[in-house]
This record gives sequence, C-alpha cells and structure tokens, in this order.
Amino acid sequence: KEKAARVIYWHRTDLRLHDSPALQAALDLEPECLWPVWTWDSHYVYRARVGPNRWKFLIECQKDLSASITKLNPKSQLFVLREAPQTLFPKLFRSWRVTHLVFEKDTDAYARERDEMILKFAQEAGVEVIVKTGRTLYDPDLLVKENHGKPTMSITTVQNLAKKLGTVPRPIPAPRTLPDPGHTDIDFEQERPCHTPDHNNVQRNQADNSYSTLSGPFDDFSVPTMEELGLKPATTPHKGGETVALRMLDEIIKNKDYTATFEKPKTAPTAFSPQATTLLSPYLHFGSLSCREFYWRVQDIVNSYKGNASFPPVSLTGQLLFRDMYFGAQAALGYSFGQSYNNPYCRFIPWHLPSKINTAKKLITGEYEIDSPVAEEYFQRWKQGRTGFPWIDALMRQLKVEGWIHHLGRHAVACFLTRGGCYVDWERGAEVFEEWLIDHESACNIGNWQWLSCTAFYSQFYRCYSPIAFPQKWDKEGHFVKEFVPELERFETKYIYEPWKAPIVDQKKWGCLIKGDRPVEEGGYKTYPKPMFDFSERREICINGMKNAYQIGLFGDDPKVLDGTWREL
Ligand code: FAD
Repeated sequence: KEKAARVIYWHRTDLRLHDSPALQAALDLEPECLWPVWTWDSHYVYRARVGPNRWKFLIECQKDLSASITKLNPKSQLFVLREAPQTLFPKLFRSWRVTHLVFEKDTDAYARERDEMILKFAQEAGVEVIVKTGRTLYDPDLLVKENHGKPTMSITTVQNLAKKLGTVPRPIPAPRTLPDPGHTDIDFEQERPCHTPDHNNVQRNQADNSYSTLSGPFDDFSVPTMEELGLKPATTPHKGGETVALRMLDEIIKNKDYTATFEKPKTAPTAFSPQATTLLSPYLHFGSLSCREFYWRVQDIVNSYKGNASFPPVSLTGQLLFRDMYFGAQAALGYSFGQSYNNPYCRFIPWHLPSKINTAKKLITGEYEIDSPVAEEYFQRWKQGRTGFPWIDALMRQLKVEGWIHHLGRHAVACFLTRGGCYVDWERGAEVFEEWLIDHESACNIGNWQWLSCTAFYSQFYRCYSPIAFPQKWDKEGHFVKEFVPELERFETKYIYEPWKAPIVDQKKWGCLIKGDRPVEEGGYKTYPKPMFDFSERREICINGMKNAYQIGLFGDDPKVLDGTWREL
C-alpha cells in the first residue's frame, strides 16, 4: 500500500488559492497532511532592493492568504518560517516526515539557482518534488524552446509562438477545503533554525505584543510586521491581497466597454484616483491574482462583445502577452538579462555624455568624453524629483510615495533619464524602480528599461518624450502636477509644465519662486528648482550620441563588436 502523502506546499510567486495548478497538484495527492509554507528567503530579505511600500504589500498578501487558508481549515494557516529555504528544508523534510514538496515554477535567474539546490536536497531526503507553471500565460521555458532556444525579443514573436502553443488554459477554481497540517514541531534539536533575520534579531513578545531583540523561534509562524522588520512606515495607498485583487478584477470586468475596448496607448498617464489602467500589476507580481484568471475574464467579455473590441498587442490580453515576452527573454538569458555587460541582446551605449553641445559634436569623430559628475547630479535630481521639469518630478514623487505609476509615466521618466535627456545608464534607473515599485517584477522592469533606453526590444531612439508637450496632450490643466508637486499648485495653467517662464511678479503672487536646485522655503516663499538643463539642447546631444552608438564600430571600442558577441535584433 502506498504511503499517505505528507506535503509541503511552498508559496512563493503565488500568494493565492484560486487558479493555482501547483496547489491543485498538491491536493490531487489526497494528502494526509498539507503545510502551506512561506520561507523567509534570505535573497529577498538581504539582496533584492525592496522599499517599505513593497514590504507592506507583501505582508498584506501573506496575511490575506493566511486568513483564507484558515477559513478553509481552522487548523491551518500560512506557516511563515523565518529561515532561508536552502537550510530550512532539509530539516523540515526529516522532522515533519515529508513525502512531497510542491511549488509553482519560477524562472527568475536567482530562483532557478535556489530551486535546483532544493531539488537536490529533496532527492537526498527521498522527497518527491512537483513543479507546475502558473505564473505566466505560457511556460517561459516552452516559449523559448519553441523559439529555438532564443529569447523572446518582440511581441510579434510571442504572438506567433502563442498560436503554436495553443489556447491559454482556463483557470481552475479555488479549493473548498484544505487538509490539516501535520505536526509543526520546529525544535530540530541541534539544528534549531534561526527564526528571525540575522541582521535584525527581533522577537515578538506574545504577552503584550511588543517587540524586543531576543532571539528564538516564532512558533506561531506569524506573518512579520513592518516594525519587527525594522522598516520605515509605508506610504503607498495600495493594499495587497487576493481578496482585494479579485474584487478589483470584478469591478473592471463589470465595465464591459472598458474591458473590451481597452487600448494601452489611449490611456492617460496623468489620471490618478482613479488611474486609467487596471493597477493589477502588483497583484500579478505577488501571484495574489492569477494571470489566467485575468486573461479569461477579459477574453470572455471580448468574445461576447457586440461592438468593436480591441486586439493584442494594445488590448488588455495583449498587455499580458508583453508580460510573457519579458519572462521569455529572462528565462533564456538568466542573470545576463539584467545587465548590459555579457548580454549579447543588449546594445552597448557609452552613457554619460558631455553636458555641452559643442563637446558632444566631437562624437562624430569619436572623441567623446565621459562627464560623470554631471551625470551623477542629473541622476540624483531625477531620483529625488527635483529636475525642474514638473512632469518628470511629479511622476518620480508619485513613484516614491505610492509605489506605482502609469505605464506611459514610466516611459517618460525612463526615456528622460537615459536617451532622452540625462544620458545616464538604464541600469541605474532600473535599480530605483526595483526599490520603489510595489509591482517590481525583474523580467518586466529590466525588459522595459531596455526598451525605453533603446538598448533592446525597441530602436527608434529619435522618438523622444518631451517633458512639456507630452503631458500637455493629456492634462492641459496640470492637475497631476499640482497633486504631486504642490509647490506649483497656484501656478497658471499656461506655465504649469514650464514654470521658469512665469514672470517673477507672478511667481511671487503664486507663492513659489523658481530658483536653485531643490525645493526649500525662502523669505516666506516656497521654491521649485530651475530646469537642470535646456531640454532641446540635451535632446540633440542624446540623439547624436545614440546615432553614433548605433553605428557600431565607429568608436572602435564597443566591446561587443570587438569580441563578436553583438547580435543584430
Ligand atoms: P495594465 O495596463 O492594466 O495591464 C495589465 C497587466 O499587463 C499589468 O498589470 C502587467 O502585469 C501587464 N503589463 C502591462 N504592460 C506591460 C509591459 N509593458 N510589460 C510587462 N507587463 C505589462 N511592470 C511590472 O509588472 N513590473 C515592473 O517592474 C515594471 N517595470 C517597468 C519599468 C519601465 C521603465 C516601464 C516603462 C514599464 C514597466 N512595467 C513593469 C510595465 C508596465 O508599466 C506595468 O506593468 C503597468 O504599468 C502596470 O499597470 P497596470 O496593472 O495598470 O497595467
């Protein structure tokens, strides 16, 4: 007779119960016991850049999942174990007499490395491992395989591959019950795990709910709090969790016209409260919303829509295909995808150009100079929302405070930092997004930064976003700027994107002087910075720089040309 299954279900990229092929596979084993587990991954805690807003969102997703699990089985919960999986699992396998480990496939570079190690430990312990795809519409490895082992570098490629791979599977419903967990003894004798992050050895005092720095196990397996993690309070208004995600999706789907006719280029980046797109990205990131659930709820509306529905790639389902495209690229390239170095699909650009146009002209002859101090100043001012261009500053401030900005807003700030203004390396910008976005998804972040910097995916570098004309198209009155750059709230509409042009008497009348390089209070007035450069001049410098970088070989020092690793897209 077969041994009854004792299963650890390892939640990682899937903080949900609905449409989880991996969870379904675990339940199909008809286990005697099932432990839903979250391990405190040291990579996530120490290595990735995670700001307080994303931490808060994650904690809310975990709490919501834990409560949903307990609703289905009062003896169960999300068992949060504060130790890296690489050291924890071998001990759990023995102590809990585990027969199966089940999880959703994760093709991120670090995750692959980690999971290979866990697979080896499981094999050694005689534990069977079951892995199922559920994070993307298509398994990224299958996309790559169908693409002859190459990364998916265009949406047309993905659309063609999708045709070959067939229809996206329909979502599966959430379970109605869950098995009991087995015993949860975590006293591993000699091998007691450290249940708190080493760097901040904090312990909750269960008696009065206060926190002290004593070490020891957390045998209630609780979801940590922001205080316990030593984090600054979060400022994002967005709340995590499967319950919120499904409610938001219901609301979107209710509006059939919006759902069926959605076209990304036609949504306003200046819209806030409510925003013009779905804002489901952070839920997809933490897997508290299944992308297949999202896809089919939309597709069913499109199929029955009487009017003219939109189609991929601009439609809502098309947006999910873009997501798959970046996952496919990352699955093929691994760690190299995240950088220009050693990445044959990312164009080399000698970033950090001179600040003066006459020097830039020397680019034609290849005598370009590195101007790092200026580039660093531009970078810092961009990051802190004090470039002196209200549209850019409003977006960067919204990003910092709320952790989410519209796609075209991301376009604007990414173009401005790289090939359309500052000429700073895209990797610097991607790092800021990694820290501040609540939806940070390494594949999508890296891929989109490469797109916007014209280093991969997209090459029309002469098409730059103007920080003045572009927002004017969407928001003549400047409501968005006034919300996030309150120094300018009294400025007349005609000056809202170019406040430096307002006469000084008017600046005084409106209580804000345009001067300096950062907002301060001065002589009873607020100040807002002067623009940090002449945008038209910078655009010309950047376009020249890009033109020359694209004519690879002109400088004779493009490492990818020299070592033959450059591949024309
Ligand atoms: P919607 O327009 O409602 O789209 C629905 C879903 O489709 C999104 O939730 C998202 O999962 C997916 N999607 C839409 N557009 C894209 C896209 N261009 N690439 C990949 N997926 C897409 N998206 C992330 O999820 N994480 C990131 O870290 C991220 N970083 C970005 C960095 C830059 C520089 C740029 C230009 C874009 C980035 N994006 C990222 C893509 C896109 O901006 C967001 O997915 C989108 O704005 C999220 O808002 P939404 O949920 O309202 O999108």
